[in-house]
Order: sequence, then structure tokens, then C-alpha cells
Amino acid sequence: MNQTPKDRRPQIAFAGRSNVGKSTLLNRLVGRKKVAKVSATPGKTRALNFFLINESFYFVDLPGYGFAKVPRKVREEWGRLMEQYLNEGPSLIGLIFLLDCRRDPNEDDLQLLGWLSHRKLPTMVVVTKMDKLSRNKANQRLKQVEKELGLPAIGFSSTTGIGKKELMGAIFDLIEENSQALT
Ligand code: GDP
Repeated sequence: MNQTPKDRRPQIAFAGRSNVGKSTLLNRLVGRKKVAKVSATPGKTRALNFFLINESFYFVDLPGYGFAKVPRKVREEWGRLMEQYLNEGPSLIGLIFLLDCRRDPNEDDLQLLGWLSHRKLPTMVVVTKMDKLSRNKANQRLKQVEKELGLPAIGFSSTTGIGKKELMGAIFDLIEENSQALT
């Protein structure tokens, strides 16, 4: 894989269907520095985008998927790219998998998670746009997602900022746990 950074700083990847709120979340996490661009047209991003944060780790923005108008050939290319990166990226220490709170995981989502079964990569689900649900419904939804996917989930809203602290905490824990292994 060509354009991936060659240094050994840990990489945390973010994946999700187009329009799940990934660009907005990345912008929220990295603060005012506009390192991630919010996409106006869903499915526009095709490449893996690496953002070096605080000179110490990378956020990797994986291309959004599940966009109906994408030709099959492009989808297959996407699949190869994802599978290769998720299985072989030597500095990849964790995946943040995004799911819209109002959607169920679909075939594309499950395929992506399925690729990880070859490798025990710590994976966390971030359930996005939680501001769209009442507090009760939001809690129910989180539990449901955790049960269905068998993974820990954090509720997040870029609108209210809910879940940001928890997510950053989880990311820093992951980096800390891996810092010795990678140096
Ligand atoms: P991406 O395709 O996954 O990068 O999605 P975007 O970040 O571009 O967001 C897609 C749409 O969802 C945009 O219209 C955003 O304004 C909206 N959006 C993103 N995050 C939130 C959120 O937390 N709450 C709500 N209500 N809308 C959001």
C-alpha cells in the first residue's frame, strides 16, 4: 500500500457508511484545526486520509461506503483497499466504527466488521447523531447495538458534543496501551 505513513506512530481508523457523520465527528474531535473536510456529496472520499494529531498519532479517515450510485468496480476496489489496510496496516491499533443511531447495520457494515475477524483489532462502535433520539430511546439504542454487534458502543452527537469526552478517553487509553508495543 503506497501512500500510508511509514513511521510507527499508532493509527486509529474511522469507518462508516456515507453520511453517517464521520467528517463532522472528526472535525469535532480535532477541534478548530480544520484537518478533516466535511463532505457535501456523500461518498466523495475514496482515498485513505491520514491526519497526524499532536505529532504523536494518526487518525485515519477511511472512505465512506454504501453509496448506491457507486459502480460495482469501484465498490470492489474499495473492498480490496479496506481489507488490505485493516488486515495489514502494521501501526493500526484500533477501529472506530460509526453507525447512525436511526439505522441498523447493513451488509456493507457487517462485511467491514467481518474483515476484522482475521485480526483481533480493538473495535469500538460510535453511534452517531444521538441528538435525534430522546434520552430513553438513546440508551435503549446503545444497548441494542452493543448486543447486536458484540462490541462496546459510545453514543455521540456532533451537534450537542455528547460522547466526545468518552470517545477521546477511550482513544487515549488505546494509544497508551499500545505505545510500548509499537516503540
Ligand atoms: P460523512 O459522509 O460520514 O462524512 O457525514 P458528514 O459528516 O458529512 O454528515 C452528514 C450529514 O449529517 C450532514 O448533513 C451533517 O450536518 C449531519 N450530521 C453530522 N453529525 C451530526 C449529528 O451529530 N447530529 C445531527 N443531527 N446531524 C449530524
